[in-house]
Amino acid sequence: MPVYRDEAVVLRTQKLGEADRIVTMLTRQHGKVRAVAKGVRRTASKFGARLEPFMVADVQLYEGRTLDIITQAESLGSYGALIADDYPSYTAASAMVETADKLTEAEGSLQQYLLLVGALRSLSRREHGAGLTLDSYLLRALSMAGWAPSFEDCSRCGAKGSHSAVVVQVGGSVCDDCAAPGSPRLDPATIALLASLLTGDWEHAQSTPDQTRAQATGIVAAYTQWHLGRGLRSLEHVSR
Ligand SMILES: [Zn+2]
Repeated sequence: MPVYRDEAVVLRTQKLGEADRIVTMLTRQHGKVRAVAKGVRRTASKFGARLEPFMVADVQLYEGRTLDIITQAESLGSYGALIADDYPSYTAASAMVETADKLTEAEGSLQQYLLLVGALRSLSRREHGAGLTLDSYLLRALSMAGWAPSFEDCSRCGAKGSHSAVVVQVGGSVCDDCAAPGSPRLDPATIALLASLLTGDWEHAQSTPDQTRAQATGIVAAYTQWHLGRGLRSLEHVSR
């Protein structure tokens, strides 16, 4: 029977029967894969411990008729335990894997895989703070999915920025001519932070005060919810 190997990050798991689990993974080369891990809910299953959410593993699978079966898993990054130790990191990671799960419904991509693994690694190392890491991940993941926001030029007519009005339904910043009356206005500092999160300018992002971060988080959450349609359940648990 056909066997294949890949690197994978675990997005979620669900129980199957007495001892098994269905593991949903974003893989490096095969997009999103749902596969069965047998016997992992028995105590002391090292195999199972490598297939918890947020873990990155080198997995071997064989193709089943309905679901593939995971036959081996070697840990490549045990971010799960480090992330679960810290509640803000845990809620941020939960929102990331749920977003990756929704964005890669049809097919995954190497870019999405690398972005997610990089963000989880960064969270586990507490590099930039959970909130900034999550907001940056969301903006970049949506950009890769074809919904790149603009926080410079007008999202509608392209007029040179920066502009103070932001309309998530249009794609970000809009100029005064394009902004509908009553469009929400943001501080220039908030717009600058959003731009930094999108490009990964951490030095600038980390220099911003909490109030600016809170405003940016509100925009990122609205932008994410707008594009993903259904609400992200885990985003509700992120402290805002
Ligand atoms: Zn315009």
